[in-house]
Amino acid sequence: MDIEICRKILIKYWGFTSFKPLQEEIIKSVLAGEDTLGLMPTGGGKSVTFQVPGIAMEGICLVITPLIALMKEQVARLNEMDIKALALHSGMTREEIEITLDNSIYGDYKFLYVSPERISSPLFKSKAPRLNVSLVAIDEAHCISQWGYDFRPSYLKIVELRDLLRTSPPFLALTATATPKVIEDIIEKLNFRGKNILRTSFERKNISYFVRKVEDKGTFLVNTLRKVKGSGIIYVRSRKRAREVAEMLSGKGFSADYYHAGISNELRDKKQASWNSGETRIIVATNAFGMGIDKPDVRFVIHWDIPESIESYFQETGRAGRDNKPSWAVLLFNEADKNRLKGSIPQKFPPIEKIKDIYEMLCNYLKIPVGAGKDTVHDFNMQEFVAQYHLPVIVTYNSLMFLQREGYLEFTEEINNPSRVHFIVGRDDLYKFQVANEDYDSFIKLLLRSYTGMFTSYVPVNEDILARKSGLSREKVCQYLIRLSALNIIHYIPGKRTPLVIFTEERLDRKSILISPDNYLHVKEKYLLRLEKMLEYAESETKCRSVMLLEYFGEDAERCGNCDVCRKRNELELSKYEFDLIINEIKTIVYSEKVNAHNLVNRINFSEEKVVKVIRWLLDHNKLHQDEQGLLSWNNS
Ligand code: ADP
Ligand code: MG
Repeated sequence: MDIEICRKILIKYWGFTSFKPLQEEIIKSVLAGEDTLGLMPTGGGKSVTFQVPGIAMEGICLVITPLIALMKEQVARLNEMDIKALALHSGMTREEIEITLDNSIYGDYKFLYVSPERISSPLFKSKAPRLNVSLVAIDEAHCISQWGYDFRPSYLKIVELRDLLRTSPPFLALTATATPKVIEDIIEKLNFRGKNILRTSFERKNISYFVRKVEDKGTFLVNTLRKVKGSGIIYVRSRKRAREVAEMLSGKGFSADYYHAGISNELRDKKQASWNSGETRIIVATNAFGMGIDKPDVRFVIHWDIPESIESYFQETGRAGRDNKPSWAVLLFNEADKNRLKGSIPQKFPPIEKIKDIYEMLCNYLKIPVGAGKDTVHDFNMQEFVAQYHLPVIVTYNSLMFLQREGYLEFTEEINNPSRVHFIVGRDDLYKFQVANEDYDSFIKLLLRSYTGMFTSYVPVNEDILARKSGLSREKVCQYLIRLSALNIIHYIPGKRTPLVIFTEERLDRKSILISPDNYLHVKEKYLLRLEKMLEYAESETKCRSVMLLEYFGEDAERCGNCDVCRKRNELELSKYEFDLIINEIKTIVYSEKVNAHNLVNRINFSEEKVVKVIRWLLDHNKLHQDEQGLLSWNNS
C-alpha cells in the first residue's frame, strides 16, 4: 500500500490538500506494519494519522480512547463523511454491545471505537478473535503511564489485544504530552515490537509565555484585556469562580461567558458555539473546556489559577494561536496560590481508612452484597450519594479515583445517552403486526421513514423530532415506544444522562481491600513531583519559559526571545551567549567567596559595562543578594 492512496483519501474525505508535519511519516510507518509512537502537540492533527490508514487498509481499525464524549463525536464525524464507524463503551446494554461487535465482525465497518475497560470484558474477549483488525490506534496514550498526569489502569489491558487478535495488527500510540519517562512506559506497557518513536517539536514559536505575580488578579485582568485584541480563554479552578470572573468581566463591559461541567450539555454546546463564532469574546472556564476546541484564532490563554502540572498547562495554553499568529499564554500567580495548592494535597490523598469507608458506603448505596457485583453497571448520582452519607465531594471523588486505580471499579464521566430503538421482529412479522394492529401502523411507518438500520442494530432516536413530525405530543410518542416494546416488536431504551459506576471485581470485605503503595504512595510522590515542577515554572525568573516547558518534555530548545524572562533580558542588549557566560562566572565566584560588586567586575573578563548590567539585573530579580557591607551572595530561595 502506498502513501499516494492515503493522500487521495485525505483529499477526498477531508478536503485537505497536504499532510501536516509528521502525519505522512506516521502513516507510512503504520502502513509498513510497524508499531509506532506518534508525539504531536495538541492540534497537530493526530486523528488523521489513524483515520486515513484505517480507511485505506483492509479490515477494521480499533480505536482506544478514554473519553466517551470524544468517541461519540468522532464516530458522528466519520458517519457524516459516509465512513462506517461504531462505538463500544460502558453506557451500553449487553445486547447493544453484542450487536455492535457482530456488526464489526460481519458488517463492512472501518472503525470500532472502544473504551479501554471494555477490552477486558468477557463478551469482548469472546468475539475479538473474529474481528479482522487492520490497526489498533491508542489515543491519549499517556494514560497508560503512572508517570503521566492522567493514569487510567484500564489502559494496561490494551496489551491483551496482542494475544486476542488473530491479525497481529500494528499498534499506533498517540499523545500530546510525553515526558521521557512516559515514553518509556508507553513502549513497554504496550509491548512494542520495536522502539519506533516519531515526534515533532513541541515548540510553539508564536506563543509568548508570561508569568505575572499579582495580588489583585481582577484589576490586572481588566487592564490586560483592554490592551490585547481578539478572543481567548481564561482558565480557573472552580465552577464558582468561572461564573464570578465572567460576571465581573461582563460588568466591566467585556463580552464574556462562563463554561464548566455542571452546565447542561445543550447550554454548553451553545456557549462554545458562540465563542467559536466570535460572538462571545472571552470564555472563563474550568478544565472541562477543552475537548473539541478547534478555534484557530485564540489570541490568549490566561490562567487565573495555577494548574497541577506542566502537562496540563502546556495542553491548555496550546489552544492559543493555532493559526500561527502571535498569541499570549499568561499565568497569574502569587504566594497565596502556592499555599492553596499545597493545602489541597490532603484532599487529593484521603487517608486509606477513609477510602475504605467510602468503598463500603458505595457498595451499601448500590446494594451490592459482599462477594457479588462483578461486572455490574450502576447509574450513579454523586450528589445524592454524598448527601446521604454526609461526605465531602472532593474527598469522595478522589477516593473513587483510588479505587479505580486499584482496579476495583471504573467511574465514568457523565455521558449523554440518546434513546435507542431496535426492531426485534423481521420485516415480514412486522408487516403482519401492522395489518393486525391498525392503530400502530402510522407510528411504525413514521419510525421506518425517519431512521434506517433499525432491523440490524440499535439506532438513536429523538422523541421530540418524532413528535414534531407526527403532530403527536412527546408523551404520546413515548407511550407508543413503550407499548411496542412491551409487545416485543421493538426494544426501546429511553435516553438518560448520568455518570456510571462499573464494578470490575466483586465486592470485597473490608479486610481484603488493598490500596497498594504503587497506587497510593507512588502516585502521591509523582503528583508532588509534578506540582513542584509547575511551581518551579511559576517562580523562576531567570530561565526562558519556553525552554523550561520544552525541557520538561525532554526537548532541547533555544531561548524564545518573547517570554517575560527573555524580554527583560533583551533590555540588557546582551547576546544570549554573553549573558549565560557572565552569569556562570558570577555564580562560580560568589558561590566560593563573598565579594563586592567592584571586585566582581574586575575579575570577569568582559567589558565593565556588560558585567555591571548583569549584576544589576540579578539584583533586580533577587538572584543576587547584597548585604550591608556590599558583599554579594547567590540567593537560592
Ligand atoms: P490532535 O488530536 O492532535 O489535537 P486533531 O486530530 O483534533 O488534533 O486535529 C486538529 C485539527 O487539524 C482538526 O481541525 C483537523 O481537521 C486539522 N487537520 C488535521 N490534518 C490536517 C491536514 N493535513 N491539513 C489541514 N488540517 C488538518
Ligand atoms: Mg486528539
